[in-house]
Amino acid sequence: MDEDEKIIVTHLKNRGFTEQEIKDFLKREKESKAFRKKYREDHACCPKCGYDGHSTTLVAFVMVHGEYDKYKDRNDCVCSQCGDKHIAHDRVPLKNEENGKE
Ligand SMILES: [Zn+2]
Repeated sequence: MDEDEKIIVTHLKNRGFTEQEIKDFLKREKESKAFRKKYREDHACCPKCGYDGHSTTLVAFVMVHGEYDKYKDRNDCVCSQCGDKHIAHDRVPLKNEENGKE
């Protein structure tokens, strides 16, 4: 259990959550964390030129547990390199040519 989880567990215990509820909560947290990481990686770069530097609006879009495939980050991004405008969801994974295979 990492520091973040310990804080969450303490917080939930103080609010009267049961062990099982806490367990379920942590499981969901883990899944959504993994999803967010993957999503960021899958939408890291400009769809036009592949550059990862960009500016973006910072609106949080609701992520529904169990419906991750429906999640769409609609923040507006502007590529720092070619100036292309697109939404975060339309960005593409970083091509990792240095490391080759995954
Ligand atoms: Zn670009």
